[in-house]
Amino acid sequence: MIPDHLQHVIQADRPLAPLVWLGIGGPARFFAEPVEMEQLQQLAQWAHENSLTVRILGSGSNLLVRESGFDGLVISLAAAATSGLTLQDNQLIAGAGGQLSHAIVKAVGGGLGGLEHLVGIPGSIGAAVVGNVASGGRDIGAVVDSVRILEDDGSLKNLGKDDISFTHQKSSLAGLRVVEVTFQLEPTDAGQMTKRLQKLWIARNASIPAEMERIAAPFVDPDAMSARELISSVGLSGIREGEVSLDPAQPQYLLAHPGATSEHCLKLIERVREQVLLQTGIDLQLNLQIW
Ligand SMILES: Cc1cc2nc3c(=O)[nH]c(=O)nc-3n(C[C@H](O)[C@H](O)[C@H](O)COP(=O)(O)OP(=O)(O)OC[C@H]3O[C@@H](n4cnc5c(N)ncnc54)[C@H](O)[C@@H]3O)c2cc1C
Repeated sequence: MIPDHLQHVIQADRPLAPLVWLGIGGPARFFAEPVEMEQLQQLAQWAHENSLTVRILGSGSNLLVRESGFDGLVISLAAAATSGLTLQDNQLIAGAGGQLSHAIVKAVGGGLGGLEHLVGIPGSIGAAVVGNVASGGRDIGAVVDSVRILEDDGSLKNLGKDDISFTHQKSSLAGLRVVEVTFQLEPTDAGQMTKRLQKLWIARNASIPAEMERIAAPFVDPDAMSARELISSVGLSGIREGEVSLDPAQPQYLLAHPGATSEHCLKLIERVREQVLLQTGIDLQLNLQIW
């Protein structure tokens, strides 16, 4: 089934648990990390011809993979060809597989502002844009100028900012495959920005549990308040289902302990949603993606 020219790129039955933060989940039927754009396009074509669903894996910080795994092709864009960062005039052109944190440092170092408030949010640039990550009331979509998409047949297509809609922790890019993002940023003093970045980083670190392994932030912050305030207010801090619990001090975070399963995670999430709805009438939306 795998053609000769892709034999060395595609791995069969690759376990996904070591690639996602929660450390849970079965294998991908096929997995690939292309080292050239052309190879990525060939992979998409091959999957299309064989009716395989393709999903992009970023840093795995917002993913719950079931034990049955994923019956399709999982592509990582972490290789250099799909994760590079280039500054050009007031724009940052970023491969989707690059880390958001690296993009922020690159922009600030080049005297360009607009991304720094997102410091400390884990994950890749592609996932950040698709999920329209936000911090302090400002989202990443506000500085997106265009994105490049990988189509089913392996061709590439550019979408300008007017072709994309960004709403609260969501975008119209969901379900598409983003391979590159161009950000339109504002020239700013690099020294002042670096100091601001350090302050933001310290504040951010203080609000994340020290236990940073096997963690997820499953819920979207509702409009009026944070998920943290809401979950605390209904007395759910620290609750446990099987080997999964909410952090006692920062209950917007879910922690997976040894022996945790996807079923434990889903049960805990359902319990939180039910209790929050019952006690406050607010329907907490899920940010965590489930494969
Ligand atoms: C400790 C912690 C703190 C967090 N804080 C915040 C926060 O403050 N604000 C916030 O908004 N989020 C926050 N999150 C959630 C998470 O950081 C974001 O959702 C992040 O964008 C996920 O990036 P990732 O690369 O790890 O995505 P992954 O977990 O790898 O993937 C998530 C989803 O994005 C899709 N995807 C990945 N790359 C692409 C691509 N190139 N094209 C198309 N789809 C793609 C995947 O298919 C999957 O469906 C937090 C998570 C943790 C664990």
